[in-house]
Amino acid sequence: MNAGIVIDGRRVKVAHARVVTWLDDARVPELRENRSRRRERVRAIVLHTTWGRLGALHAGSGTPAGRGYVAANARATDKSWDFTVDRDATVFQQSDPARWFTWHAGAANPFSVGIEMVQALTGELYEVQVRAAVELIEVLARELGIAQVVPWRNGRPELRVLASVRAGRLSGLRGLFAHANFTDDRGPGDPGPVVAEVMVRAKGWVGIE
Ligand SMILES: [Zn+2]
Repeated sequence: MNAGIVIDGRRVKVAHARVVTWLDDARVPELRENRSRRRERVRAIVLHTTWGRLGALHAGSGTPAGRGYVAANARATDKSWDFTVDRDATVFQQSDPARWFTWHAGAANPFSVGIEMVQALTGELYEVQVRAAVELIEVLARELGIAQVVPWRNGRPELRVLASVRAGRLSGLRGLFAHANFTDDRGPGDPGPVVAEVMVRAKGWVGIE
């Protein structure tokens, strides 16, 4: 275990997070019917939280709950995503984003990768979970050539639907996005500001107003 994530069939190490893919554990099955063949280049990462709630950021790690989402992802027929980041910093992967796209953000699916961060109803995230998501995003951006930019507004991550999305102009979108940038159905808690703030304040990514 911990050979890293799978990109175009290769294993790529993630710094600290424990990675579990279908190659490592039969209980993390690769998606089958609920994904589509990738035809466009990947130019976006869309970050989600499972409940879409804004909550506290807790120190340390939380009780893992990701395997339930992994099982649901494999069973679903109407939605799917690539990576699940658990509250103990385990990263589960169920699809190779270079070869397939999953169904997590509507019109953005063909050019994006979907990451779900596990939450309880109360919406809290954990420091180790945020760190694992940050590491995963850095590796995906490097390996897939995704621009290191984030939608930004008034000095903070933009967590509303983007004007370009409302206008149907998706072709210029690149970088790290919130699910809330693409839909009114989820709100600012999907995924909240924390990860995008770390990318810009600590990792040198650029907030684009
Ligand atoms: Zn979402």
